[in-house]
Amino acid sequence: MVEHTTVIHGITRATTHRGGWVEHEPTGRAVVHCTCGLDSGTVTETQAVQIADDHRRTAAEARSAPDKRGYVFLGTATAASVAIWLRR
Ligand SMILES: [Zn+2]
Repeated sequence: MVEHTTVIHGITRATTHRGGWVEHEPTGRAVVHCTCGLDSGTVTETQAVQIADDHRRTAAEARSAPDKRGYVFLGTATAASVAIWLRR
């Protein structure tokens, strides 16, 4: 089971000022990362939120459909049975 922990990283521009303090200025851009390997690349913050929402929804749907794998397996078994039947 793939775990999905989706994180939006806002990209800030760091400016080092005299005296050593660093100012982190928002750039309006962000990156979406997920523990499943998703990497959106640099997108706008609005897009990042959409990508994260879509990804969470897709992940939730995948989790709530445990019968899907069984259905695919059944389909494969049926196709194999037909292939064996045709060879006789
Ligand atoms: Zn994910």
